[in-house]
Amino acid sequence: MPLIPLYQCLKEAEKGGYGVGAFNVNNMEQIQGIMKAARELNSPVILQASRGALKYTDMVYLKYLVQAAVEQNPDIPVVLHLDHGDSLETVKKAIELGFTSVMIDASHHDFETNVRISREVVEYAHQFGVSVEAELGTLGGIEEDVAGEVQLTDPDQAEEFVERVGCDALAVAIGTSHGAYKFRGEPKLALDLISEIYSRVKIPLVMHGSSSVPKELVETINTYGGSIQDSYGVPIESIQHGIKNGVRKINVDTDLRLAMTGAVRKTLFEDPSKFDPRDYLGPAREAVYQVVAQRMKDFGSAGHGGDYEPMTLEDMKEIYGVK
Ligand SMILES: [Zn+2]
Repeated sequence: MPLIPLYQCLKEAEKGGYGVGAFNVNNMEQIQGIMKAARELNSPVILQASRGALKYTDMVYLKYLVQAAVEQNPDIPVVLHLDHGDSLETVKKAIELGFTSVMIDASHHDFETNVRISREVVEYAHQFGVSVEAELGTLGGIEEDVAGEVQLTDPDQAEEFVERVGCDALAVAIGTSHGAYKFRGEPKLALDLISEIYSRVKIPLVMHGSSSVPKELVETINTYGGSIQDSYGVPIESIQHGIKNGVRKINVDTDLRLAMTGAVRKTLFEDPSKFDPRDYLGPAREAVYQVVAQRMKDFGSAGHGGDYEPMTLEDMKEIYGVK
């Protein structure tokens, strides 16, 4: 099936009461590992690329790698999503490349500016039937050049924001942060906020910075020469609580990075004579597969790949009332 819009993916997830993992990609092994999991577990999947990923792949490689993934997995619903779009210019580029969904992150601006920039993107993207995720509130941590102080999403503001912006999904800040160092100690999340926001905005919610940073992945890295200290992620139970209360898209990047790095380190440590990239990128790909497969079970999307009657961007134009 062709790439589907995020709108449809999250609507289906709402119906089925599950969440869909959005995994960051920038090379072939990651995409293959993710798609193997989606295929084996019959799960819908969101592949997302940040501006950094577009730059790293010269855009055209990403485009065709995802096209290959779709061609090889005709029965799996796949969304191609722009992660943390910073401007209308980036959004335009992504839509030209064939993305079926974009995020505009203007959350570091004041409320009115965020509304204006996000609204502009919605008006542009919806003309092409492309879905839009916007963000209100700010996360901690660093992702690409997105850095800042934590400011939790306010439910009153969220209601007004979604009404004025008309986005298809809303990224909320509930205390998670980007990267491997999410918490100094036990994670503290404002989980009650999720149901409160969802009851007001009534559109699918997105959790960013939702890697779980499993101890065993960190241990593998540290055992084989790496150094990652005091890292804590978001517990799976917290994400599952979110899914019960309106979260439909869960962004996972760090866990995949950790898994790949651990596999590469272990392989090269155990046999220092190896120098064929396939010898270490193969295990890295397998490690991505393992993590993603587990998340698809954790988030409940496993088994739902066959539920979809794929919608096209043309179908979406009708929904958005584009003439
Ligand atoms: Zn993010």
